[in-house]
Amino acid sequence: MSTQLQQQELNAAQSLIYTRTNISRAFQDFDDTEIAGIYLRDDNCLVVRRDGSEQTYPRELIKLAFTNYTHRLKDFFSYLGPNYRGPSVWHNNAYVLFKGWNYTHALGHLTSNVKLQAHWADKFIHVSDIAKITAILQSDQTDIGYLVAPDGMRLADRPIDMDSELDDGSEQKPVLSEPTCSCGSFQRQLSNLSSFQEEIEGFKPWCIHLSWFNKYRELLCKRTDARNASPSGTPEKCVAWFYAPPKDSISDGRFVLLYTNQGAQAPLTHWRNYKPNEVFTQHHAWDLFFNMMDASYVPFPGIALPQLKSALKK
Ligand SMILES: [Zn+2]
Repeated sequence: MSTQLQQQELNAAQSLIYTRTNISRAFQDFDDTEIAGIYLRDDNCLVVRRDGSEQTYPRELIKLAFTNYTHRLKDFFSYLGPNYRGPSVWHNNAYVLFKGWNYTHALGHLTSNVKLQAHWADKFIHVSDIAKITAILQSDQTDIGYLVAPDGMRLADRPIDMDSELDDGSEQKPVLSEPTCSCGSFQRQLSNLSSFQEEIEGFKPWCIHLSWFNKYRELLCKRTDARNASPSGTPEKCVAWFYAPPKDSISDGRFVLLYTNQGAQAPLTHWRNYKPNEVFTQHHAWDLFFNMMDASYVPFPGIALPQLKSALKK
């Protein structure tokens, strides 16, 4: 029995779960300074301080904090490329997802990452090698996006086995893996999969890019439904949205909505400001999009509607 009470060193997966930051996320009063070591003891995470004192924290709550953090939904603009470009179809059932460098700062559009995104946006499809595409997206020099396969990557063709029984029909189906992402967080989970699964029941690797992608896809489906719901095929209830990225690192961006009941082409005088006395930011965007579609309004990016241009200057 005594061996169970001994402190246990962290394995690779555990050292990604029981970190200072995840303990802080689980316990807001956690002091993350003067730490000599983090270990496990039974159902607790044991934090040993430089002065020899110790505290214990329930493992379950730290695991939960880790899972919530890897599944969190980032704001709508986090992974849009130039001109609000969403994920681009690549090969093997995968997509290129851009980091939202354009929208992190008012001067974001001037950064070298954004210029690289614009350069590559329509050329990725011509690069069919996974190692090459990930090197273009994420390397020591580039940090422009990720290769994401939310429905799993179609695996490379299996070599033909001359000794096997011929064609049982299964060969025709594409072979898909689980959802994957090229980002560091996902890849670290994948390469330590068995120890993660030992630590967290039912564990599957996941990351913020997969969460965002699924939400974005849900939005596109819902928007298509809202469009198709109008009898003429041209929706009359429309919302135009505009976004101005933050001017400094402590502010939020401004998210502004205009709406009309007379179709997207209606002149500016037929549009009204949505809740003009409220300030919306990038953090409101997902909820506002889904709320407006629930009310049968179809969202359009304002920059696609030239007659609204002068509204922005006000
Ligand atoms: Zn990812």
